[in-house]
Amino acid sequence: MDEKILEVKDLKTYFFLASGVAKAVDGVSFHVERGKAVGIVGESGSGKSITASSIIRLLPLAARIEGGAILFKGRDITQLSRAELFALRGKEIAMIFQDPMTSLDPVFTIGYQIRELLETHSLTSRSESRAKAIEALSIVGIPDAERRLNAYPHEFSGGMRQRVMIAMALICNPSLIIADEPTSALDVTVQAQVLSLLQDLQKKIHTAILLITHNLGLVWKICDQVMVMYAGKTVEYASTQQLYENPRHPYSWGLFISIPKLSAPLDQKLAIIPGTPPDLRLTGKGCNFAARCPYAEGRCREAAPILREFEPGHWAACHLEGGIQNGEVRRRFEPFPKTEEGCS
Ligand code: SF4
Repeated sequence: MDEKILEVKDLKTYFFLASGVAKAVDGVSFHVERGKAVGIVGESGSGKSITASSIIRLLPLAARIEGGAILFKGRDITQLSRAELFALRGKEIAMIFQDPMTSLDPVFTIGYQIRELLETHSLTSRSESRAKAIEALSIVGIPDAERRLNAYPHEFSGGMRQRVMIAMALICNPSLIIADEPTSALDVTVQAQVLSLLQDLQKKIHTAILLITHNLGLVWKICDQVMVMYAGKTVEYASTQQLYENPRHPYSWGLFISIPKLSAPLDQKLAIIPGTPPDLRLTGKGCNFAARCPYAEGRCREAAPILREFEPGHWAACHLEGGIQNGEVRRRFEPFPKTEEGCS
């Protein structure tokens, strides 16, 4: 049986603001198995990154985990002491952040920062940590690793800095890597390199990966399972193949329709999901997507839909019986992409 490395159950993370309580993550559940990759997708503000930050409890001051459990190898992270958390971060759970320039300390060499990680977790002696650091940089494809150990972050390109972040994430052989938009600050060529690097490493060291992204192409390449989030809630959860072949939730369809197509005529405007996400201080009554959904009906504004299993392993939170189907979506979504008057 597959081993669950991470199990998130009904997670609720709220921001307590002077103007009210914003439900950034509102009852999210999913799991990641050893050697598998799970993607979380959605627009900015959907709660993807706050879900990731909740897992390692690196939340902004105004945010608090208000409910649920985060089980890592059976231990509830929400109940750990500061010392226990410190021992877990970097060693058992590693995180690759979006912007490597702000994640690396500009006043220390790359070698110092990698060695510090090993020595903090008492994994190697001082002399061994240098050899390990060289090995880690070589694995992620940094040429002349021994010499580059003495370089500072500003001496590396964006792609090379992201490789350093991946080397730091891997050096302690973590059971779980959380990658928060790992390629969004990189150009497309480097994105492809980082992508194949993550795939190689997943195969070689059998690490579980939680990938936070808005890039559906990246999810297709790497992930086994996908969770689509909207306004702090899970709206769809399925295997990657199920979701890409037959998305059931209108918001998921909106995301797919918004992907620019190379075959589209040059003068065709880009499709969009009209409107903006709701104010997270005001969500809770009815479906959060109702104001933007071309399928919305009276009941959608009265009662929040719960996640239902439409086929084995394929869940969606929508009142529509059977979800939406391919042919129907083409008809019903015709005005949705706004190809005539949408934004360009
Ligand atoms: Fe649209 Fe209603 Fe389904 Fe929400 S519950 S996604 S508003 S059809």
